[in-house]
Amino acid sequence: MSGKTIIEPQTTVPVYDECDVLVVGGGAAGHSAAIAAARAGCKNIILMERYGYCGGDVTGGYVLLIPNLSFHNKVYVRGIQEEWFERLQKIPGAVAGPDPKTGVIGSTNPAFVRAWGPVGGSTRVEPPKVCFGFMVEPNQMKIEMDVMLDEHKDSIRVMYHSWGCKPIMEGNVCKGVLFESKEGRKAVLAKVVIDATGDADICRLAGAPTSSAIDDDCRCSSTALVYRIGGISMREYSRWRKENPEVAMQMGKDLADIHGFRSGLISGPTDDVAWVNNWQPKRDCSKIADLTATEMGCRLKIREVLNYYKEVCPEVCRGKVKL
Ligand SMILES: Cc1cc2nc3c(=O)[nH]c(=O)nc-3n(C[C@H](O)[C@H](O)[C@H](O)COP(=O)(O)OP(=O)(O)OC[C@H]3O[C@@H](n4cnc5c(N)ncnc54)[C@H](O)[C@@H]3O)c2cc1C
Repeated sequence: MSGKTIIEPQTTVPVYDECDVLVVGGGAAGHSAAIAAARAGCKNIILMERYGYCGGDVTGGYVLLIPNLSFHNKVYVRGIQEEWFERLQKIPGAVAGPDPKTGVIGSTNPAFVRAWGPVGGSTRVEPPKVCFGFMVEPNQMKIEMDVMLDEHKDSIRVMYHSWGCKPIMEGNVCKGVLFESKEGRKAVLAKVVIDATGDADICRLAGAPTSSAIDDDCRCSSTALVYRIGGISMREYSRWRKENPEVAMQMGKDLADIHGFRSGLISGPTDDVAWVNNWQPKRDCSKIADLTATEMGCRLKIREVLNYYKEVCPEVCRGKVKL
């Protein structure tokens, strides 16, 4: 920050819309909140999202893995998230994961463990066991989330490309949100405002106590730029790792050196696309400089990582590896 300040002139802001429930943020939480409110009978809901699609981290952020949703043979995460799986299952290539209806969840049968092993989040290691977890194809997920909203179009009005930037407060009560869009700064008034921004933007700007939980041991205080690599065979890659354990171990170290953080290939919903999760600690997701460092720092290394994979395991990558 330069330390200089300017005074923003007072201005009259048009009220764009009014509703009973305003959900700010259309990620997993906000989309589900809007759908749940509609199913509970609320007829006047607005879902405000800064980007042009729903899903947040799950779609645009490529956090495609929804892991470990069962304990032994019991699925303990149900509701709308389970519904995602059931809906995507009907669309070829949209989701990969074991179907709880087949009774396979909790199985220690090595044949099933082996079959689901390559799908991230679908097996546990100790003891080896199939669990309910799945990987989604992000564009199909975006479409399905829109389909779900469209099914409730009598109750939910969707406002994409609208960035909620300031709570409208009356004392301690939030009465709506000012937002920025291509149409300029406008307001939505609401009886109830749900902050589903993932980073507690509205709560934080309202002065509510929040914490960025900067703690290296805490997963939620890591930032990341998750990406995907295509032109690979994940089944071949998994076989190659087993046949070359020492090289695979060295590979982990080399990639950590290149990126500056731990990273590795995880299977996606299709064999030819790998998913690269990562954890970049000591960064605050409410700070411009930290977010920029995560985005650029990771992106600037990706080509080097691709070249490394091509060189070290060409038989798996067949020279076709691409972003
Ligand atoms: C590095 C990393 C790896 C992870 N790995 C996994 C994993 O493997 N499996 C797993 O299940 N979970 C994982 N998670 C956690 C998971 O991503 C989150 O728990 C989940 O995405 C939270 O959903 P959400 O809807 O609360 O927030 P988000 O997914 O962050 O959604 C927030 C939404 O609000 C929108 N938004 C934000 N601010 C505003 C604003 N001011 N106005 C309007 N819209 C706004 C965003 O565009 C976004 O659509 C991981 C998280 C990280 C950071």
